[in-house]
Amino acid sequence: MKQTTFKPVVALVGRANVGKSTLFNRLTRSRAALVANFPGLTRDRHYGEGRLGDRPYLVVDTGGFEPVAKEGVVVEMARQTQQAIAEADVIIFLVDARAGISAQDHDIAALLRRIGRPVLLAVNKAEGMRHAASVMEFHELGLGEPFAISASHGDGVGELMADALSHLPDVSAAYADQASVLADDEVEQEGNEQEAPAESEEATEEVADHRIKLAIVGRPNVGKSTLVNALLGEERVIAFDMPGTTRDAIEIPFEKGDKSYTLIDTAGLRRRGKVFEAIEKFSVIKTLQAIEACNVVVLLLDAQADISDQDAHIAGFVVESGRAVVVVINKWDGLSAERRERVRKELEHKLRFLSFAQILTISALKGQGIPAVLRAVNAAHKAAFSKLSTPRLTRVLHDAVAQQPPPRKGIFRPKMRYAHQGGQNPPLIVVHGNALEGVSDSYKRYLEARFREVFKLDGTPLRIEFKSSH
Ligand code: GDP
Ligand code: GDP
Repeated sequence: MKQTTFKPVVALVGRANVGKSTLFNRLTRSRAALVANFPGLTRDRHYGEGRLGDRPYLVVDTGGFEPVAKEGVVVEMARQTQQAIAEADVIIFLVDARAGISAQDHDIAALLRRIGRPVLLAVNKAEGMRHAASVMEFHELGLGEPFAISASHGDGVGELMADALSHLPDVSAAYADQASVLADDEVEQEGNEQEAPAESEEATEEVADHRIKLAIVGRPNVGKSTLVNALLGEERVIAFDMPGTTRDAIEIPFEKGDKSYTLIDTAGLRRRGKVFEAIEKFSVIKTLQAIEACNVVVLLLDAQADISDQDAHIAGFVVESGRAVVVVINKWDGLSAERRERVRKELEHKLRFLSFAQILTISALKGQGIPAVLRAVNAAHKAAFSKLSTPRLTRVLHDAVAQQPPPRKGIFRPKMRYAHQGGQNPPLIVVHGNALEGVSDSYKRYLEARFREVFKLDGTPLRIEFKSSH
């Protein structure tokens, strides 16, 4: 049994109005924009990815933190909030420099002092205030030297995050091959901005020969464990209850046909500390971490229940992550033809932002449809790791533009010169030219459809970026 390294989790904690969501937005800013283009996507803005340099981490905004000191703080806290705190690697506790210390701050501090994990105290809204004056009274909370920050202006946020991550191992190497951190500007450094660089056509054919990292995600009771058992055959999935940090995931290697897979297990939830004993079996953070750590996600849904907000949230995370996806509808056994039709319709509507993914129906319990799941996973993996040569990309780009030129924006007509690949899993296509800022979303979708069609990119999201020379 191997373990893999998850992205560390930073939880933002504090009473209402101290600036948690402002800080969250600042930390996850670059990622938020990626999702805006998917119509119909329910976004849960409580979870996001941040980066400090090339170090990725997950941020959780525990928005609902409203402890009431009735039977003790913990009792009244929202369950997901408890869980987020219990699963975080570092906690940033925000207080308000302008409002000063409140009774609630004291309650939260008392709780955080007991959880045995690093807690950083961030005194927010401190812009324009003298450092000593802004943080002085907060020493009383007994959580060490406070950081003076301004979430809305950005002051002190870099220092705060550097300190937060200094408590954790650097996992950037494990995520270095993802598109989000790939440098995509090496072409321009050649000094020739107008012509596509020469490249051999031979580099085009891709053999995805490394292990396929697979995560099976879905809300509780959709049948994840049953599907895992069906995939692994006789091997049982043990409920792991090992001490350790949430950064370690359980990896289960298995072979099927001529392919090697590694299943990233989300079930092994562990307790962390005495304060939070009632941690639920299902964990949003675990799900997110597994999605981040895999290449292909199997999004499992239950045909015998309606699609819930929770399903849509998980689907949202999947899209945001850029991972390849196979949508699998489980419990297809024993359904009337009418119900099947209705489920399909509902899915197509609610998950239209996943239209690039294959949708399969199975019965994990009866072992029906399982080989098709792995075939779809293989195909999605292959598409996600496609290598697209600059000459071919450029040819497809030119054909697409010839057939339908991008509309003018003001006095400029965008000019598309060439395209090169800037990353994999998901494939990133960087289009170079002039006046590309004016390219509309609908034209971008048109290009995406063309690239998808020619390069057979089913099962993976595709990202297109425009780079203007001037
Ligand atoms: P949350 O309830 O903890 O998520 O707090 P919000 O992020 O919604 O912020 C509450 C209010 O404080 C909003 O009006 C923000 O604009 C404001 N705010 C947040 N950060 C700062 C800051 O650094 N400086 C100032 N002056 N106001 C801030
Ligand atoms: P998990 O919480 O997602 O891991 O879900 P489980 O694998 O524990 O399954 C939840 C329940 O659904 C169990 O009672 C399973 O027997 C049942 N179940 C799983 N797959 C199927 C299926 O294909 N058909 C039917 N009818 N029930 C299933």
